[in-house]
Amino acid sequence: MDTEKLVESLETLMDKKYIKVKEPMSRHTTFRVGGNARIMISPSGIDEMISAVELLEDKQVKYVVIGNGSNLIVSDKGYDGVIIKTVNLNSIKVNNNIIEADCGAFLSRVSKIALENCLSGAEALSGIPGTIGGAVSMNAGAYNVEIKDILQYAFVLKESGNISIMYKDDLMLSYRRSIIQNSNNIVLSAALMLKPDSCEAIHSRMAEIQSKRVSTQPLNYPNAGSIFKRISGQPVGALIENAGLKNVTVGGAKVSEKHANFIVNTGNATASDIIGLIELVKETVKAKTGIDLETEIKII
Ligand SMILES: Cc1cc2nc3c(=O)[nH]c(=O)nc-3n(C[C@H](O)[C@H](O)[C@H](O)COP(=O)(O)OP(=O)(O)OC[C@H]3O[C@@H](n4cnc5c(N)ncnc54)[C@H](O)[C@@H]3O)c2cc1C
Repeated sequence: MDTEKLVESLETLMDKKYIKVKEPMSRHTTFRVGGNARIMISPSGIDEMISAVELLEDKQVKYVVIGNGSNLIVSDKGYDGVIIKTVNLNSIKVNNNIIEADCGAFLSRVSKIALENCLSGAEALSGIPGTIGGAVSMNAGAYNVEIKDILQYAFVLKESGNISIMYKDDLMLSYRRSIIQNSNNIVLSAALMLKPDSCEAIHSRMAEIQSKRVSTQPLNYPNAGSIFKRISGQPVGALIENAGLKNVTVGGAKVSEKHANFIVNTGNATASDIIGLIELVKETVKAKTGIDLETEIKII
């Protein structure tokens, strides 16, 4: 279907301002790289997103859902389909010990609301710069807590077009994996079960975690968090550092001096630079240690 006709059809479902043509994905990824999406939409409500997905399925247009793009590289060639960005789907409700959040709600806001309600369990996730949908898809985690530890259930739009309630076992959450990945299933919202605790204690744990992040992560450069998964539960930063790869560059992409499992965009990196550097790190580590590194970040 040609772009103009597709835009016309999408305009029957949502306001024009939520539809962008030839949108540079460098504006929507924390790495600040990536070519244009043929179309990017940011639906203003869950029903609007569901209708858009129905339309795209019907017209056989390929699409992918993104949150904050904090675990993503979009290729320099861009994406010849529709990117659905969930940023406007960000309602959060508190019901006793349960926080229900729409897929585009930021983990930082969810944790802040948990703090305001003196609910504990989300502190470790507070510094992860992603959304609820991205966190469920990735089973995001930090400091020995993963979203699976607090997730009660999620509402998921299945490839069949049905909406299902999926409990954590159904989602098959394990280290940075879920059944959502590599499927066209979309997390619409999630419910987190937290525990009452003293507000001061929650606040101090959040502050401690934030200061650990600031002191160990290169937050002053665009990046996408850890590039590679842990191996047998062990962080891989030391492995990369011992292979002599700190500060190694490909174009504008550099292995961070502060944290060797981070690649940073020093200013003018392209997606190809970052992907090239990832390959170089993998090959070097394999040659020096025999270990195969597996990437955590997703490539579109
Ligand atoms: C500075 C920094 C620190 C980080 N620290 C951590 C950390 O400590 N722990 C950690 O786990 N991660 C960390 N990350 C990585 C990242 O923030 C997490 O993986 C986060 O959960 C991704 O959320 P997102 O909304 O940005 O998802 P995106 O990057 O937009 O998408 C990631 C994946 O989720 C899918 N997705 C997004 N939304 C939905 C949805 N609604 N339904 C279905 N699929 C969806 C996308 O298609 C994609 O496959 C860090 C990143 C940065 C930049």
